[in-house]
Amino acid sequence: MKKNIILMGPPGAGKGTLAKQLKSSLNLVHISTGDMFRENIKGGTALGLLAKSYIDKGDLVPDQVTIDMLKARLAEKDCENGFLLDGFPRTLPQAEALERLSKEINRPIEVVVNLDCNNEELIRRISGRRVCKNCGAPYHIVTMKPKVEGVCDLCGGPLYQRADDNEEALKVRLDHYVTDTKPLLDFYKQRGLLENFNSLVGSQELFNQVSKFLTK
Ligand code: AMP
Repeated sequence: MKKNIILMGPPGAGKGTLAKQLKSSLNLVHISTGDMFRENIKGGTALGLLAKSYIDKGDLVPDQVTIDMLKARLAEKDCENGFLLDGFPRTLPQAEALERLSKEINRPIEVVVNLDCNNEELIRRISGRRVCKNCGAPYHIVTMKPKVEGVCDLCGGPLYQRADDNEEALKVRLDHYVTDTKPLLDFYKQRGLLENFNSLVGSQELFNQVSKFLTK
């Protein structure tokens, strides 16, 4: 079974949903840098305050801040059995730092799962996305409705729309994806780590395909 996995793809490709499904079936730690920043924003920390000024506009949080946060997280004991990185790396300096770091801690990246999706579908998914404030479970106002409107099926928490899930910030996020993150596909292809999946097949089928690949 593959451990120490990177999930890549544009915003809305389904990284978070897939990570949550894989996390429980493969018993890996799910590390989402976006979730970590949002926790800090919720907790009112200095890191949260700094991150918010970038996130709300759709910009990337500076590399060194993000790398330091990830480094501390990877050093935690629960990462020893393997981890799923969701939303990191997003830039070349982050990918290079991760390569150094993962070697240092003797947990090299074993595979990069890339989710392909077209822009039209990404925009449709993100503009209708709702997230549980308590547990982070994802919903969609048309395709993944909760049983009771505005209420999380799993924990009963309130659903909300992320501040950066608006048209303006999304455009900036998609631009950052093309300019800063997409070039990493070549970086990992050259290392023989890249595996592509089409996220248009839907979340259950995508989960089936990816988990079959990771456990073979
Ligand atoms: P996500 O939840 O992965 O969509 O991330 C939400 C936002 O957090 C992104 O649009 C960025 O502003 C910020 N962020 C998350 N991960 C990173 C990263 N690796 N590098 C820089 N900024 C990040």
